[in-house]
Amino acid sequence: MAKERILIVEDEEDIAELLEYNLQRQGFEAEAVGSGEEGLELTRQMEPDLLILDLMLPGLSGLEVCRALKSDPERSRIPVIMLTAKGEEEDIIAGFEAGADDYVTKPFQPRILVARVKAVLQRGPARKPQEDGVTEFENLVIHAGRHEVTAGGHKVELTRTEFRILEFLASRPGWVFTRGQIVRAVHGDDYPVTGRSVDVQVAAVRRKLGDAGALVQTVRGVGYKMGE
Ligand code: CA
Repeated sequence: MAKERILIVEDEEDIAELLEYNLQRQGFEAEAVGSGEEGLELTRQMEPDLLILDLMLPGLSGLEVCRALKSDPERSRIPVIMLTAKGEEEDIIAGFEAGADDYVTKPFQPRILVARVKAVLQRGPARKPQEDGVTEFENLVIHAGRHEVTAGGHKVELTRTEFRILEFLASRPGWVFTRGQIVRAVHGDDYPVTGRSVDVQVAAVRRKLGDAGALVQTVRGVGYKMGE
């Protein structure tokens, strides 16, 4: 089996080397470059399976690199794990909005980062509903066409917005979505809904789902995800 290829974009050489070493030791092919420009160039040549991207880079910033990658149809599927400074929640939110798939804060334990790399690689593409428009999630069943949800076999009464939030989160299990992304996905860009009202609606969804409500997880300071 071919080794999975990881591209590291990080201008701090000691961190880049640490990552390269640990990923190679875990059986990955890993290569590091020191700028966003080189990183974008190499994503064309190397076709990596995953990108580890520092946000603070000289020249093109990590966010700009992420946006460029995610807006290119040929490369938008390459998952991105961003490296951010600890406690910079705005960076984390901006990273997710630029299309990043996960993040790790500095300083980090190499084994934690390797575990995140493996988890992101295992997620695979978005979960497609079955042909009849049904998405199953443990004991939770979402019928897209009928706008109907059952949990443990019991029908759950959700409002239209609650349903759309649940359907959106369930379409990509494990993916973290910011409140801003949820608002846009559910209402379109121009709807005057705040992040706070997303919190209220998610709380209502959880309550109505009963035990299955635990599937809707809070990512502190960032947003929400569906967990297994
Ligand atoms: Ca840096």
